[in-house]
Amino acid sequence: MAVRIGVLALQGAFAEHERALAQCGAQVCEIRARRDLMGIQGLVLPGGESTVMGTLLQEDGLLIPLRDLCRGGMPVLATCAGMILLAADLPDFALQPRLGVLDISVRRNAFGRQQESFTTFLQVRTFCASAADRVEAVFIRAPLVERAGTGVEVLACLDGHSVAVLGGSMLALSFHPELTEDLRFHAWLVRRAAVWARAPRQSEK
Ligand code: GLN
Repeated sequence: MAVRIGVLALQGAFAEHERALAQCGAQVCEIRARRDLMGIQGLVLPGGESTVMGTLLQEDGLLIPLRDLCRGGMPVLATCAGMILLAADLPDFALQPRLGVLDISVRRNAFGRQQESFTTFLQVRTFCASAADRVEAVFIRAPLVERAGTGVEVLACLDGHSVAVLGGSMLALSFHPELTEDLRFHAWLVRRAAVWARAPRQSEK
């Protein structure tokens, strides 16, 4: 049976993630309310505006259930604003509502304004097959990781700044793979979610 992946669809670039996930063979479900979480085996936190998304998560009663799912080990792919939602530490916007489940310190809008958006090619550890292999990375008012905590692996850097990290089963990217044809990150999520779906949970043991 196809893996069921929930895509947070309150705001932002969720449709592009849905297309990529469908191409990877996943069954996609849009998350707008608590009841949409039923049966999902993986999660995408898309790009958009993290302040708006955080506020809506709180208002729609999704903040705590999503936090619990992340803490419970559900595989997550978070891009751009999604990375900000995961960050435990957000020094310049400490009060901004978010999940705060990944031990990283994040700086928002670290690469400048919308007009300064750019595309580059990055070597991403574990996702690139050879030293010459690169991932096309689109940066749009992107955040960067200023500090990665214990157990959080930095997978890619740009100008010495961390822009892709993996902590447990949470993969957080500063850039937008859903805006390219590169399906590696979505395929990773689908694979991880399939494994996670088969693993016995504490409550089922
Ligand atoms: N700048 C946005 C924020 O801080 C993120 C931009 C994006 O997701 N493309 O929330």
